[in-house]
Amino acid sequence: MQSKTAALTLALAVAWATPLAAGFRAGAAYRAITPEVNLSTAPVYLAGFGQNRVATGVHDPLFVRCLAMATGKKPVVLCGVDLIGLFVDDVDKIRQAARQQLGRDLDVIISSTHAHEGPDTMGLWGPKTGVSGLNEAYNQFVVQRATEAVVASVRGMKRAQLYLARTGFPDLKAFINDTRPPVVNDQEVIALTVKDRRDRTIGTLINWANHPEALGSKNTLITADYVGAYYRVMETLRGGVAVFMNGAVGGMQSPLGAKITDPTTRELAPAGSFRFAETIGERIADLAHDALNNAKPTKIDRIEYSEARIRIPVGNEGFKQAAQANLYGGRKAFRPDGTSETPVGYLRLSRGADVKLEAACIPGELYPELSVGGVQKYPGADFPDAPVEPAIKPMMKAPFRMLFGLANDEIGYIIPKSEWDERAPWLQNSAKRWYGEVNSIGPEAAPMIAAAFASLLRR
Ligand SMILES: [Zn+2]
Repeated sequence: MQSKTAALTLALAVAWATPLAAGFRAGAAYRAITPEVNLSTAPVYLAGFGQNRVATGVHDPLFVRCLAMATGKKPVVLCGVDLIGLFVDDVDKIRQAARQQLGRDLDVIISSTHAHEGPDTMGLWGPKTGVSGLNEAYNQFVVQRATEAVVASVRGMKRAQLYLARTGFPDLKAFINDTRPPVVNDQEVIALTVKDRRDRTIGTLINWANHPEALGSKNTLITADYVGAYYRVMETLRGGVAVFMNGAVGGMQSPLGAKITDPTTRELAPAGSFRFAETIGERIADLAHDALNNAKPTKIDRIEYSEARIRIPVGNEGFKQAAQANLYGGRKAFRPDGTSETPVGYLRLSRGADVKLEAACIPGELYPELSVGGVQKYPGADFPDAPVEPAIKPMMKAPFRMLFGLANDEIGYIIPKSEWDERAPWLQNSAKRWYGEVNSIGPEAAPMIAAAFASLLRR
């Protein structure tokens, strides 16, 4: 007994004697960002789908959830936020406030889950055309809460062990109804968990691609959609803080129209029901949990993040009119040359020369063929001779590759230039126009983002 205590004391002394900056450390924290719904005061306009969808209540809370990791003095913090999108202007405020409060440099990546049943933080879903749905006080509240979560996750960092796993394909394909050719899914779930020295989970982060819009356009209750069910199940199974980073959700990765069997009833979950959403979230949590249980620890001694700001020509007339009508509340200022600035980022975790995990931070809704490959040349395309952009995930080399969509900005759909189609005839001689371009900044987004990412990799 005596010697065991002595040994323990010695072990603690060694641990404390280790300089703070040494070794892999991690922390996690979350804050709720559920808005107050009071129908007699200011309405909460729900984002996604059509205009004037006013929230009538709250089904489950919305969150900002952060995982901080460090091997040296500069931590990187990955945060998922249950919102339709957050413009770079608000992300910059969070980064700046977190640096100020922590009194140190850090990298912060904020990725919106793209939940379609939360407040309009972009201004595009107000009561009617030309009227913003944005509530400045709510965006400020999101910035403040996100800053708190970033700061708390960094302050809570402790010595940790990292585990990486992959799962998903083909089980999850049933959760997606792809309504625009080509039918390409980036269906890999990449899961990351960090545990403390007593083997307790600090946090778990998964990266998967699908629109959190399972409740559909008729729902008026605030919810994090399938992501909320994932949080609940993942935290029940593993403890710690569950984080969700969405992926390449464009063209068109959506559960709307999918046939999903509810495992508890063995019948189809009714479209637009909460069971429909929960079935998705519970399944991805289960799969990721199982995969992580089989994962071996991964040693990391270096974390690097780099980011470039690129200027994309704004080709979308609707976006220009929205800016002129000040729907964005002063955000997304278009430059005099008609471009808009947006960040592209690259995260790398390695041990020596051995890269273990890479992540691309893409500022919008990437078409999955731009993530995993499979761009098609169809008759009817507006730029049939446009070169095919190199796909993002194959550009990376690590055994685990993540792609964070809606990361640090939301510029809308990012469509391969050779699939761009704003003018008849329509792709594949379709009788009607395909959905996508109306919510995209323009045809130059994809080639410019692919080129910017390739140059970040070469650095
Ligand atoms: Zn979308």
